[in-house]
Amino acid sequence: MAFEGLSERLQKAFSGLRRKGKVTEADVRDSMREIRLALLEADVNFGVVKEFVKNVREKAVGTEVLDSLSPAQQIIKIVNDELTATMGDAAVPLNKAPHIPTVIMMAGLQGAGKTTTVGKLAKRLIEQEKARPLLIAADVYRPAAIDQLQVVGEQVGAQVFALGTDVDPREIVRQGLAQAQLQHNDYVLIDTAGRLQIDEKLMTELADIKALAEPNEILLVVDAMTGQAATDVAKGFDERLDITGVVLTKLDGDTRGGAALSIRKVTGKPIKFVGQGEKMEALDVFYPDRMANRILGMGDMLTLIDKAQANFDEQQAAEMADKIKENTFDFNDFLDQMEQMQNMGPMEDIMKMIPGMANNPALKNFKVDPKDIAHMKAIVYSMTPAEREDPDILNPSRRRRLAAGAGRPVVEVNRMIKQFNASKKMMNQMSKGNFQGMEGLMGG
Ligand code: GDP
Repeated sequence: MAFEGLSERLQKAFSGLRRKGKVTEADVRDSMREIRLALLEADVNFGVVKEFVKNVREKAVGTEVLDSLSPAQQIIKIVNDELTATMGDAAVPLNKAPHIPTVIMMAGLQGAGKTTTVGKLAKRLIEQEKARPLLIAADVYRPAAIDQLQVVGEQVGAQVFALGTDVDPREIVRQGLAQAQLQHNDYVLIDTAGRLQIDEKLMTELADIKALAEPNEILLVVDAMTGQAATDVAKGFDERLDITGVVLTKLDGDTRGGAALSIRKVTGKPIKFVGQGEKMEALDVFYPDRMANRILGMGDMLTLIDKAQANFDEQQAAEMADKIKENTFDFNDFLDQMEQMQNMGPMEDIMKMIPGMANNPALKNFKVDPKDIAHMKAIVYSMTPAEREDPDILNPSRRRRLAAGAGRPVVEVNRMIKQFNASKKMMNQMSKGNFQGMEGLMGG
């Protein structure tokens, strides 16, 4: 999982402080050493680490004592703020052209996730802006890149402009742009070639495409898993192309965090999006403050809320929360919730965004098979309205009927009811604030 080691080590750096009422200079020095090691181990650029530690130390020493926070909490807050600042403070939106089309050129090394990201971005623009993007297939070297773009285009409902692999990429881009003009496409996304490493020929080709396409946005796609190397790649591309933003992919993997924390400082260019999976919906806006929360192991609560809002009917969500509080959550709600959850992406990813859960060892091997969800739904569908509203009446003979109705073994029905009761209890507890998280510390 992303940032796991870094989160753990940072929490360790604070754990000594947290038990104290008063923090001495020696305490601050010790935790600074821990923080420095944690960042270096996470593959953060050396210069960035140095500046980070210096800033935190200065703020920690000069900090005024606030009544509302303990000294340890204040230091955690300073580190949280510095993490946020290191990654750029606020989210930076896509550049837009004054007249259509807005031209977005994607660059990056082979395998970084360029083609996938073109598809994800197109999907996002189609869904959020009802846009009609044209995708230009200008990666003529990587075997099957054009086919891949075509598959992705079809998946998200975007038109792909391709001329095969025998035409010069510059010519493909020229003709693609002309077609976009004719068709009044509002966006053009250019998928360019990558190499296994930066080389002169690649850079010249990209510089030529930039000169002729005059993109409003040059997004460099880098693989977060490559750590420090991702930072070097970003620096190299930026020096040649003067990029306008970065997309950091594979943040769903167990990246250590170096790239996320170094790129902004080293290149001065914002990370605009992060890729968090292979599916087309797995692209999120990069919010430095939320990422900082996530690195500190507090879970990316705000992203979770965002995702929930996109998929949940607000009123329904409020009703659900009331039901949980009043302990009247029943199988009808359970069914609704499962359906909404399914639209949000893999359950294990969602769970990890809950504060305190990200580093929970219980989640390490947690996987929810979509088939299991389908089975659970089948069981709930076999219930009568009375049974859904009052699960307590589910006696053995009713359970046998459900099993037969859903075509599942009785043990599975029993297990599901048990799980339902357990999660109902847990949700009720959580709604009363009975859970251990750090987010309370950071609130004010
Ligand atoms: P390109 O050579 O830069 O065009 O890279 P591709 O788009 O072909 O991606 C290379 C591989 O990385 C593919 O297997 C993608 O499915 C995968 N990939 C891309 N983005 C992500 C991401 O955010 N998370 C994960 N897990 N895989 C990704």
